[in-house]
Amino acid sequence: MKVAVVKETFPGERRVALVPSAVPALTKAGLAVVVEADAGRAAGFSDDAYRAAGATIVSRDEAFAADCILAVRAGGAAGAGWPADRDRLRRGAIVIGMCDPLSFPEACREAAERGASLFSLELVPRITRAQSMDVLSSQANIAGYRAVLLAAHTLPRILPMMTTAAGTLTPAKVLVLGAGVAGLQAIATAKRLGAQVSAYDVRPAVKEQVQSLGAKFVELPLETGSSETAGGYAKAMGEEFYAKQRELLGKVVADSDVVICTALIPGQKAPVLVTREMVARMRPGGVIVDMAAERGGNCEGSAPDQTVVVDGVTILGPTNLPADAPFHTSQLFAKNVVTFLTHLVKEGLPDVAPGDEICRDTLVCRGGELVHPKIRERAGLPPLDAPAASPTT
Ligand code: NAD
Repeated sequence: MKVAVVKETFPGERRVALVPSAVPALTKAGLAVVVEADAGRAAGFSDDAYRAAGATIVSRDEAFAADCILAVRAGGAAGAGWPADRDRLRRGAIVIGMCDPLSFPEACREAAERGASLFSLELVPRITRAQSMDVLSSQANIAGYRAVLLAAHTLPRILPMMTTAAGTLTPAKVLVLGAGVAGLQAIATAKRLGAQVSAYDVRPAVKEQVQSLGAKFVELPLETGSSETAGGYAKAMGEEFYAKQRELLGKVVADSDVVICTALIPGQKAPVLVTREMVARMRPGGVIVDMAAERGGNCEGSAPDQTVVVDGVTILGPTNLPADAPFHTSQLFAKNVVTFLTHLVKEGLPDVAPGDEICRDTLVCRGGELVHPKIRERAGLPPLDAPAASPTT
């Protein structure tokens, strides 16, 4: 089987789906690896490095002729490049990447129409045996780190306490809202930089993790017993809950120099945790990094990839922080992809075992059909009566 790595075309996307050091793991598994020219350049990996690792450098058209195509962004998540790539897809091709299928169900339907099999890596189940395939975790971790660096760079003060002959500087107060993967890394990074860190999450189970990083957990007198799903995610709460939450958070936000917002509900609009009024109560020079800006934002007034200044407070809405550290995010992504692909091969690609949870949960379309129940629903298609048949390649 020939596996191709394509160059990302989404504006500002500097990652690559496979790094040279990950090539031997695929060739050892009996796969031939081809890489589109310059695919790794923006992440710091030359064509020569891929060649030395055993890959062949090819054109984009040649890459799309392979049996399996690896991309960081595929389907609708590839943006304006998708229609051209869609038309390159040949029947029976397997595409593996982040497709953001809940936001772009139409592109998934188009991939199905082309007869391709699409695996969306965001859908990897969060189970122990799939941890090394979990792109959401590997990328969110670095995003949390970058968010704090961005805030530190923008803030007109430094983060650590510093005693000098010219006087003593007090540490900055950093508040992290949402202590999942990105939030926990943001806490750890802000602590390492010497800030005074506190954090809040709607899931009470997180308290211990926050404290183990040396940060203060903000306790709010709210009924949060039903706030966590069996999968460990936050559940959407009612508007009454969010209103009360904002009211209680107001004082903590007002006393912070930096607020890092990471709160998300899978597949839904992000909850608003910081209102304009709360922003107005912050000290001038304050910085909010809204990592949820692309999903509607945790902070009122934030905008995707924009810098907005409200009452002297700078609100940043970065949407692709992992692309700011492409060398390492690509390395982690490549490990996720290699583990996933070798698992699929073991499960008998392209006749993916329908009983395998990892294959089943990530498979969006195959055999000309959009097979993922949730994505079908998003695409306005009726449920499939019977389990999907094996692909016709
Ligand atoms: P996420 O990106 O969906 O959400 C980020 C955080 O926002 C979550 O911690 C969530 O509780 C929080 N949040 C949502 N609404 C909020 C609100 N109103 N106020 C405050 N916080 C709010 O989540 P994630 O970071 O991808 O992962 C969440 C959890 O999933 C992890 O902490 C972990 O328990 C679990 N997980 C498990 C595995 C695994 O077992 N393989 C891997 C990764 C994550």
